[in-house]
Amino acid sequence: MDIEIIAVGGFDEVGRNMTAVRCGKEIVIFDMGLRLDQVMIHEDAEIESMHSLDLIQMKAIPDDTMMNTVDGTVMAIVCTHGHLDHIGAIPKLAHRYAAPIIATPYTIELIRQQIAGEQKFGVNNKLFALRTGQRYSISQNVVLEFIRVQHSIIESVAAVLHTPRGAIVYLNDFKLDRTPVVGDPPDFARFRQIGKEGVLALIVESTNVDMKGRTPSERIARDVVRDTITSYEDDKSAIIVSTFSSHIARIKTIAECAHEIGRKPVLVGRSMERYSTVAEQMKLVAFPSSLSIVGNRKSIDRVMRRMMKAGKDHFLPIVTGHQGEPGSILSRIVQEDTPYRIDKGDKVLFSAKVIPNPMNYGQRYLIETKLRMRGARIFDDLHVSGHAYREDHYEMLHLLNPEHVIPSHGGLPQTGGYAQFAEELGYTLHNDLHILRNGQRITVSK
Ligand SMILES: [Zn+2]
Repeated sequence: MDIEIIAVGGFDEVGRNMTAVRCGKEIVIFDMGLRLDQVMIHEDAEIESMHSLDLIQMKAIPDDTMMNTVDGTVMAIVCTHGHLDHIGAIPKLAHRYAAPIIATPYTIELIRQQIAGEQKFGVNNKLFALRTGQRYSISQNVVLEFIRVQHSIIESVAAVLHTPRGAIVYLNDFKLDRTPVVGDPPDFARFRQIGKEGVLALIVESTNVDMKGRTPSERIARDVVRDTITSYEDDKSAIIVSTFSSHIARIKTIAECAHEIGRKPVLVGRSMERYSTVAEQMKLVAFPSSLSIVGNRKSIDRVMRRMMKAGKDHFLPIVTGHQGEPGSILSRIVQEDTPYRIDKGDKVLFSAKVIPNPMNYGQRYLIETKLRMRGARIFDDLHVSGHAYREDHYEMLHLLNPEHVIPSHGGLPQTGGYAQFAEELGYTLHNDLHILRNGQRITVSK
Protein backbone atom coordinates (compact mmCIF):
# COMPACT_ATOMS: atom_id res chain seq x y z
CA MET A 1 0.00 0.00 0.00
CA ASP A 2 1.38 3.40 -0.91
CA ILE A 3 1.33 5.87 1.95
CA GLU A 4 1.98 9.55 1.57
CA ILE A 5 2.35 12.37 4.10
CA ILE A 6 1.11 15.72 2.83
CA ALA A 7 2.18 18.94 4.57
CA VAL A 8 -0.64 21.42 4.17
CA GLY A 9 -0.06 23.98 6.94
CA GLY A 10 2.11 24.58 10.00
CA PHE A 11 5.35 23.54 8.30
CA ASP A 12 6.45 27.10 7.45
CA GLU A 13 5.28 28.70 10.69
CA VAL A 14 3.92 28.11 14.17
CA GLY A 15 0.17 28.01 13.62
CA ARG A 16 -2.46 26.91 11.05
CA ASN A 17 -1.56 23.23 11.42
CA MET A 18 -2.88 20.73 8.91
CA THR A 19 -1.35 17.45 7.72
CA ALA A 20 -2.97 14.85 5.47
CA VAL A 21 -2.06 11.17 5.32
CA ARG A 22 -3.05 9.21 2.23
CA CYS A 23 -3.20 5.42 2.51
CA GLY A 24 -3.98 4.15 -0.98
CA LYS A 25 -7.13 6.02 -1.97
CA GLU A 26 -8.09 6.95 1.58
CA ILE A 27 -7.10 10.23 3.16
CA VAL A 28 -7.16 11.29 6.80
CA ILE A 29 -6.67 14.95 7.69
CA PHE A 30 -5.01 15.84 10.99
CA ASP A 31 -5.87 19.28 12.45
CA MET A 32 -7.29 22.36 10.73
CA GLY A 33 -5.81 25.32 12.53
CA LEU A 34 -5.73 29.07 12.53
CA ARG A 35 -2.69 31.30 12.68
CA LEU A 36 -3.80 33.98 15.08
CA ASP A 37 -1.01 36.52 14.60
CA GLN A 38 -1.82 36.71 10.89
CA VAL A 39 -5.37 37.61 11.81
CA MET A 40 -4.25 40.21 14.34
CA ILE A 41 -2.10 42.01 11.75
CA HIS A 42 -5.30 42.71 9.84
CA GLU A 43 -6.91 44.48 12.77
CA ASP A 44 -10.28 45.04 11.19
CA ALA A 45 -10.61 41.42 10.04
CA GLU A 46 -13.86 39.82 11.20
CA ILE A 47 -12.93 36.21 10.60
CA GLU A 48 -16.39 34.86 11.40
CA SER A 49 -17.78 36.42 8.25
CA MET A 50 -14.73 36.02 5.97
CA HIS A 51 -14.35 33.66 3.05
CA SER A 52 -11.81 30.85 3.28
CA LEU A 53 -9.97 31.95 0.13
CA ASP A 54 -9.33 35.41 1.63
CA LEU A 55 -8.09 33.81 4.85
CA ILE A 56 -5.82 31.50 2.83
CA GLN A 57 -4.46 34.59 1.05
CA MET A 58 -3.75 36.16 4.45
CA LYS A 59 -1.94 32.94 5.46
CA ALA A 60 -4.33 32.76 8.41
CA ILE A 61 -5.59 29.24 7.57
CA PRO A 62 -3.96 26.32 5.71
CA ASP A 63 -4.02 26.44 1.92
CA ASP A 64 -5.96 23.25 1.41
CA THR A 65 -6.58 23.93 -2.29
CA MET A 66 -3.60 21.57 -2.78
CA MET A 67 -5.83 18.73 -1.64
CA ASN A 68 -7.41 18.84 -5.14
CA THR A 69 -4.18 17.36 -6.48
CA VAL A 70 -4.20 14.44 -4.03
CA ASP A 71 -5.79 11.35 -5.52
CA GLY A 72 -8.21 9.91 -2.98
CA THR A 73 -11.17 10.57 -0.69
CA VAL A 74 -10.99 12.31 2.65
CA MET A 75 -12.45 9.83 5.14
CA ALA A 76 -11.97 11.73 8.42
CA ILE A 77 -10.79 14.99 9.95
CA VAL A 78 -8.98 14.34 13.24
CA CYS A 79 -8.09 17.03 15.79
CA THR A 80 -5.64 16.29 18.59
CA HIS A 81 -6.64 19.07 21.02
CA GLY A 82 -8.69 22.23 21.32
CA HIS A 83 -6.10 24.97 20.68
CA LEU A 84 -7.07 27.34 17.88
CA ASP A 85 -3.98 26.53 15.84
CA HIS A 86 -5.43 23.00 15.62
CA ILE A 87 -9.20 23.54 15.35
CA GLY A 88 -9.61 27.22 14.40
CA ALA A 89 -9.93 26.66 10.63
CA ILE A 90 -12.63 23.99 10.90
CA PRO A 91 -15.49 26.47 10.39
CA LYS A 92 -13.79 27.64 7.18
CA LEU A 93 -12.57 24.38 5.62
CA ALA A 94 -14.33 21.30 7.00
CA HIS A 95 -17.51 21.72 4.92
CA ARG A 96 -15.47 21.04 1.78
CA TYR A 97 -15.03 17.42 2.84
CA ALA A 98 -17.79 14.85 3.30
CA ALA A 99 -16.08 13.43 6.36
CA PRO A 100 -16.71 13.25 10.11
CA ILE A 101 -14.66 15.33 12.55
CA ILE A 102 -13.15 13.13 15.27
CA ALA A 103 -11.66 14.39 18.54
CA THR A 104 -11.81 13.79 22.30
CA PRO A 105 -15.10 14.81 23.99
CA TYR A 106 -13.79 18.15 25.33
CA THR A 107 -12.21 19.07 22.00
CA ILE A 108 -15.44 18.15 20.19
CA GLU A 109 -17.38 20.57 22.42
CA LEU A 110 -14.93 23.37 21.60
CA ILE A 111 -15.24 22.53 17.89
CA ARG A 112 -19.03 22.62 18.22
CA GLN A 113 -18.78 26.16 19.62
CA GLN A 114 -16.39 27.22 16.86
CA ILE A 115 -18.83 26.01 14.24
CA ALA A 116 -21.75 27.72 16.00
CA GLY A 117 -19.94 31.07 15.77
CA GLU A 118 -19.34 30.75 12.03
CA GLN A 119 -21.31 33.20 9.90
CA LYS A 120 -20.17 32.51 6.37
CA PHE A 121 -20.36 28.75 5.90
CA GLY A 122 -22.76 26.04 6.99
CA VAL A 123 -20.64 23.30 8.52
CA ASN A 124 -22.60 20.07 8.81
CA ASN A 125 -19.84 17.50 9.25
CA LYS A 126 -20.74 14.85 11.76
CA LEU A 127 -18.91 15.34 15.08
CA PHE A 128 -17.63 12.18 16.72
CA ALA A 129 -16.19 12.07 20.25
CA LEU A 130 -13.49 9.41 20.57
CA ARG A 131 -12.00 8.62 23.96
CA THR A 132 -8.42 7.57 24.57
CA GLY A 133 -8.02 3.83 24.42
CA GLN A 134 -10.97 3.47 22.01
CA ARG A 135 -10.62 2.74 18.32
CA TYR A 136 -12.45 4.12 15.32
CA SER A 137 -12.51 2.18 12.05
CA ILE A 138 -12.05 4.67 9.26
CA SER A 139 -12.19 1.87 6.68
CA GLN A 140 -11.36 -1.83 6.41
CA ASN A 141 -7.68 -0.94 6.14
CA VAL A 142 -7.29 2.02 8.41
CA VAL A 143 -8.09 2.30 12.13
CA LEU A 144 -7.68 5.39 14.31
CA GLU A 145 -6.63 5.34 17.95
CA PHE A 146 -6.02 8.12 20.47
CA ILE A 147 -3.26 7.89 23.06
CA ARG A 148 -3.26 10.12 26.12
CA VAL A 149 -0.57 12.80 26.36
CA GLN A 150 -0.26 15.98 28.39
CA HIS A 151 -0.16 19.53 26.99
CA SER A 152 -1.36 23.01 28.05
CA ILE A 153 -5.01 22.11 27.42
CA ILE A 154 -6.94 19.14 28.81
CA GLU A 155 -7.77 16.02 26.79
CA SER A 156 -4.82 16.29 24.39
CA VAL A 157 -3.93 13.13 22.48
CA ALA A 158 -1.52 11.58 20.06
CA ALA A 159 -3.43 10.27 17.04
CA VAL A 160 -2.35 6.88 15.72
CA LEU A 161 -3.41 5.61 12.33
CA HIS A 162 -3.04 1.84 12.11
CA THR A 163 -2.39 0.87 8.48
CA PRO A 164 -1.38 -2.45 6.86
CA ARG A 165 2.17 -1.02 6.62
CA GLY A 166 2.45 -0.04 10.28
CA ALA A 167 1.35 2.83 12.46
CA ILE A 168 1.47 6.51 11.53
CA VAL A 169 1.78 8.54 14.73
CA TYR A 170 0.70 12.18 14.64
CA LEU A 171 2.07 13.86 17.78
CA ASN A 172 1.10 17.54 17.80
CA ASP A 173 1.33 18.86 20.59
CA PHE A 174 2.60 17.08 23.71
CA LYS A 175 4.68 17.04 26.86
CA LEU A 176 5.68 14.05 28.94
CA ASP A 177 4.28 15.22 32.26
CA ARG A 178 4.39 12.45 34.86
CA THR A 179 2.76 14.56 37.58
CA PRO A 180 0.05 16.59 35.86
CA VAL A 181 -2.34 18.84 37.80
CA VAL A 182 -5.41 17.74 35.80
CA GLY A 183 -5.81 14.37 34.09
CA ASP A 184 -3.44 11.39 33.98
CA PRO A 185 0.18 11.09 32.79
CA PRO A 186 0.80 10.09 29.15
CA ASP A 187 0.11 6.43 28.33
CA PHE A 188 3.76 5.34 28.14
CA ALA A 189 2.87 1.65 28.05
CA ARG A 190 0.75 2.08 24.94
CA PHE A 191 3.42 4.15 23.18
CA ARG A 192 5.95 1.42 23.96
CA GLN A 193 3.64 -1.29 22.65
CA ILE A 194 2.96 0.57 19.40
CA GLY A 195 6.69 1.08 19.02
CA LYS A 196 7.16 -2.69 19.29
CA GLU A 197 4.39 -3.38 16.76
CA GLY A 198 6.08 -1.08 14.24
CA VAL A 199 5.79 2.63 13.46
CA LEU A 200 6.11 3.57 9.80
CA ALA A 201 6.18 7.31 10.36
CA LEU A 202 6.16 9.82 13.21
CA ILE A 203 4.90 13.34 12.52
CA VAL A 204 6.03 15.28 15.54
CA GLU A 205 6.00 18.83 16.87
CA SER A 206 9.37 20.60 16.98
CA THR A 207 8.53 23.79 18.91
CA ASN A 208 10.89 23.35 21.87
CA VAL A 209 13.43 20.84 20.54
CA ASP A 210 16.24 23.35 21.13
CA MET A 211 15.48 23.52 24.85
CA LYS A 212 17.85 21.28 26.80
CA GLY A 213 16.56 18.73 29.29
CA ARG A 214 12.92 17.94 29.97
CA THR A 215 9.89 20.19 30.12
CA PRO A 216 9.13 20.81 33.81
CA SER A 217 5.87 19.30 35.03
CA GLU A 218 2.77 21.44 35.51
CA ARG A 219 3.29 20.64 39.20
CA ILE A 220 6.30 23.00 39.08
CA ALA A 221 4.14 25.80 37.67
CA ARG A 222 1.72 25.14 40.52
CA ASP A 223 4.51 25.52 43.09
CA VAL A 224 5.75 28.76 41.50
CA VAL A 225 2.28 30.29 41.28
CA ARG A 226 1.44 29.18 44.81
CA ASP A 227 4.72 30.49 46.21
CA THR A 228 4.02 33.94 44.79
CA ILE A 229 0.33 34.20 45.62
CA THR A 230 0.54 32.86 49.18
CA SER A 231 3.38 35.23 50.06
CA TYR A 232 0.80 38.05 49.80
CA GLU A 233 -1.66 36.43 52.16
CA ASP A 234 -1.80 39.44 54.48
CA ASP A 235 -1.47 42.05 51.74
CA LYS A 236 -4.30 44.51 51.32
CA SER A 237 -3.62 45.35 47.69
CA ALA A 238 -5.13 43.75 44.62
CA ILE A 239 -3.78 40.54 43.12
CA ILE A 240 -4.69 40.02 39.47
CA VAL A 241 -3.49 37.01 37.48
CA SER A 242 -3.52 36.67 33.72
CA THR A 243 -3.11 33.31 32.01
CA PHE A 244 -4.22 31.29 28.98
CA SER A 245 -8.00 30.86 29.09
CA SER A 246 -7.65 27.36 27.64
CA HIS A 247 -5.14 26.28 30.32
CA ILE A 248 -7.62 24.62 32.67
CA ALA A 249 -4.95 23.09 34.94
CA ARG A 250 -3.32 26.48 35.50
CA ILE A 251 -6.66 28.18 36.17
CA LYS A 252 -7.46 25.49 38.72
CA THR A 253 -4.12 26.16 40.46
CA ILE A 254 -4.66 29.92 40.55
CA ALA A 255 -8.24 29.55 41.81
CA GLU A 256 -7.11 27.16 44.57
CA CYS A 257 -4.35 29.56 45.67
CA ALA A 258 -6.87 32.41 45.83
CA HIS A 259 -9.15 30.25 47.93
CA GLU A 260 -6.24 29.34 50.19
CA ILE A 261 -5.47 32.97 51.07
CA GLY A 262 -9.15 33.79 51.58
CA ARG A 263 -9.79 35.60 48.30
CA LYS A 264 -12.66 34.79 46.00
CA PRO A 265 -11.39 33.71 42.57
CA VAL A 266 -13.27 35.34 39.70
CA LEU A 267 -12.73 34.26 36.09
CA VAL A 268 -13.22 37.30 33.89
CA GLY A 269 -13.57 37.38 30.11
CA ARG A 270 -15.48 35.70 27.33
CA SER A 271 -12.84 33.07 26.48
CA MET A 272 -12.20 32.42 30.20
CA GLU A 273 -15.88 31.64 30.49
CA ARG A 274 -15.99 29.40 27.41
CA TYR A 275 -13.13 26.95 28.12
CA SER A 276 -13.73 26.66 31.88
CA THR A 277 -17.49 26.33 31.75
CA VAL A 278 -17.30 23.47 29.24
CA ALA A 279 -14.62 21.71 31.31
CA GLU A 280 -16.63 22.11 34.51
CA GLN A 281 -19.89 20.96 32.93
CA MET A 282 -18.16 17.89 31.52
CA LYS A 283 -16.76 17.19 35.02
CA LEU A 284 -13.20 17.24 33.70
CA VAL A 285 -12.10 19.63 36.44
CA ALA A 286 -13.31 20.64 39.90
CA PHE A 287 -12.74 24.30 40.80
CA PRO A 288 -13.07 25.64 44.37
CA SER A 289 -16.74 26.27 45.13
CA SER A 290 -16.01 29.96 45.74
CA LEU A 291 -15.07 30.46 42.07
CA SER A 292 -17.33 32.60 39.94
CA ILE A 293 -17.20 33.14 36.19
CA VAL A 294 -18.25 36.26 34.26
CA GLY A 295 -18.13 36.48 30.49
CA ASN A 296 -20.25 39.23 29.00
CA ARG A 297 -19.46 42.88 29.26
CA LYS A 298 -22.40 43.90 31.37
CA SER A 299 -21.82 41.31 34.07
CA ILE A 300 -18.08 42.00 33.99
CA ASP A 301 -18.69 45.68 34.72
CA ARG A 302 -21.13 44.80 37.47
CA VAL A 303 -18.74 42.37 39.15
CA MET A 304 -15.85 44.81 38.90
CA ARG A 305 -17.93 47.54 40.49
CA ARG A 306 -18.71 45.14 43.30
CA MET A 307 -15.00 44.32 43.77
CA MET A 308 -14.13 48.01 44.02
CA LYS A 309 -16.87 48.57 46.57
CA ALA A 310 -16.28 45.53 48.77
CA GLY A 311 -12.47 45.91 48.58
CA LYS A 312 -10.10 44.47 46.00
CA ASP A 313 -8.37 42.39 48.68
CA HIS A 314 -11.41 40.08 48.94
CA PHE A 315 -11.04 38.89 45.36
CA LEU A 316 -8.56 37.48 42.91
CA PRO A 317 -9.53 38.19 39.31
CA ILE A 318 -8.16 35.76 36.71
CA VAL A 319 -8.22 37.65 33.44
CA THR A 320 -7.39 37.54 29.74
CA GLY A 321 -4.62 39.75 28.34
CA HIS A 322 -1.29 38.07 29.14
CA GLN A 323 -0.06 38.86 25.60
CA GLY A 324 -1.31 42.43 25.92
CA GLU A 325 -4.09 41.73 23.41
CA PRO A 326 -6.19 44.82 22.63
CA GLY A 327 -9.73 44.31 23.89
CA SER A 328 -8.64 41.81 26.56
CA ILE A 329 -9.72 42.40 30.15
CA LEU A 330 -6.24 43.44 31.36
CA SER A 331 -5.94 45.85 28.46
CA ARG A 332 -9.35 47.33 29.27
CA ILE A 333 -8.40 47.64 32.94
CA VAL A 334 -5.26 49.70 32.20
CA GLN A 335 -7.25 51.90 29.84
CA GLU A 336 -9.77 52.48 32.65
CA ASP A 337 -12.43 51.07 30.40
CA THR A 338 -13.86 49.04 33.32
CA PRO A 339 -14.84 50.14 36.86
CA TYR A 340 -11.75 48.29 38.22
CA ARG A 341 -8.86 50.62 39.13
CA ILE A 342 -5.18 49.82 39.55
CA ASP A 343 -3.58 51.47 42.56
CA LYS A 344 -0.05 51.76 43.87
CA GLY A 345 1.24 48.40 45.13
CA ASP A 346 -1.33 46.25 43.33
CA LYS A 347 0.17 42.96 42.12
CA VAL A 348 -0.23 41.83 38.52
CA LEU A 349 0.94 38.28 37.83
CA PHE A 350 1.58 36.89 34.35
CA SER A 351 1.23 33.11 34.48
CA ALA A 352 2.30 32.86 30.86
CA LYS A 353 5.26 33.44 28.63
CA VAL A 354 5.17 35.97 25.81
CA ILE A 355 4.58 34.01 22.62
CA PRO A 356 7.59 35.15 20.62
CA ASN A 357 6.50 37.46 17.84
CA PRO A 358 7.12 41.20 17.54
CA MET A 359 3.48 42.12 17.89
CA ASN A 360 3.11 40.36 21.24
CA TYR A 361 6.35 41.91 22.52
CA GLY A 362 5.04 45.36 21.58
CA GLN A 363 1.59 44.92 23.03
CA ARG A 364 2.90 43.38 26.22
CA TYR A 365 5.40 46.22 26.62
CA LEU A 366 2.58 48.71 26.27
CA ILE A 367 0.39 47.07 28.88
CA GLU A 368 3.25 46.62 31.37
CA THR A 369 4.31 50.24 30.98
CA LYS A 370 0.79 51.45 31.66
CA LEU A 371 0.51 49.16 34.67
CA ARG A 372 3.78 50.46 36.06
CA MET A 373 2.67 54.07 35.55
CA ARG A 374 -0.22 53.32 37.89
CA GLY A 375 2.18 51.87 40.47
CA ALA A 376 1.47 48.16 39.89
CA ARG A 377 4.08 45.54 40.80
CA ILE A 378 4.63 43.03 38.01
CA PHE A 379 5.43 39.31 38.24
CA ASP A 380 6.44 37.66 35.03
CA ASP A 381 6.78 34.15 33.67
CA LEU A 382 5.06 32.17 36.43
CA HIS A 383 4.86 29.42 33.87
CA VAL A 384 6.13 26.16 32.43
CA SER A 385 5.78 25.14 28.82
CA GLY A 386 3.26 22.70 27.38
CA HIS A 387 5.67 21.57 24.66
CA ALA A 388 8.23 18.77 24.83
CA TYR A 389 11.90 19.68 25.32
CA ARG A 390 14.81 17.82 23.71
CA GLU A 391 15.05 14.94 26.21
CA ASP A 392 11.30 14.32 25.97
CA HIS A 393 11.74 14.01 22.20
CA TYR A 394 14.64 11.63 22.82
CA GLU A 395 12.46 9.47 25.05
CA MET A 396 9.59 9.45 22.55
CA LEU A 397 11.87 8.45 19.66
CA HIS A 398 13.11 5.54 21.77
CA LEU A 399 9.59 4.47 22.67
CA LEU A 400 8.31 4.55 19.09
CA ASN A 401 11.42 3.79 17.04
CA PRO A 402 9.81 5.08 13.82
CA GLU A 403 11.05 4.18 10.33
CA HIS A 404 10.48 7.77 9.14
CA VAL A 405 10.41 11.03 11.06
CA ILE A 406 8.74 14.24 9.87
CA PRO A 407 9.14 17.24 12.18
CA SER A 408 6.20 19.67 12.08
CA HIS A 409 4.60 22.56 13.98
CA GLY A 410 7.13 25.24 13.16
CA GLY A 411 9.19 27.01 10.54
CA LEU A 412 12.68 25.99 9.45
CA PRO A 413 14.32 27.04 12.74
CA GLN A 414 12.15 24.47 14.56
CA THR A 415 11.87 21.66 11.98
CA GLY A 416 15.55 22.11 11.09
CA GLY A 417 16.47 22.00 14.78
CA TYR A 418 14.58 18.74 15.12
CA ALA A 419 16.28 17.34 12.01
CA GLN A 420 19.70 18.09 13.47
CA PHE A 421 18.72 16.40 16.73
CA ALA A 422 17.38 13.33 14.88
CA GLU A 423 20.53 13.08 12.74
CA GLU A 424 22.60 12.85 15.92
CA LEU A 425 20.50 9.79 16.76
CA GLY A 426 21.19 8.10 13.45
CA TYR A 427 18.46 9.34 11.13
CA THR A 428 19.49 10.70 7.72
CA LEU A 429 17.92 13.68 6.01
CA HIS A 430 16.07 12.82 2.77
CA ASN A 431 16.37 9.15 3.64
CA ASP A 432 14.32 8.45 6.73
CA LEU A 433 14.09 12.02 8.04
CA HIS A 434 12.12 14.59 6.05
CA ILE A 435 11.77 18.35 6.32
CA LEU A 436 8.61 19.34 4.52
CA ARG A 437 7.40 22.84 3.72
CA ASN A 438 3.74 23.78 3.28
CA GLY A 439 2.51 22.25 0.04
CA GLN A 440 5.10 19.46 -0.09
CA ARG A 441 4.54 15.72 0.26
CA ILE A 442 6.58 12.59 0.83
CA THR A 443 5.90 8.92 0.09
CA VAL A 444 6.88 6.76 3.07
CA SER A 445 5.67 3.42 1.69
CA LYS A 446 5.32 2.31 -1.93
ZN1 LIG B 1 -1.38 23.19 21.35
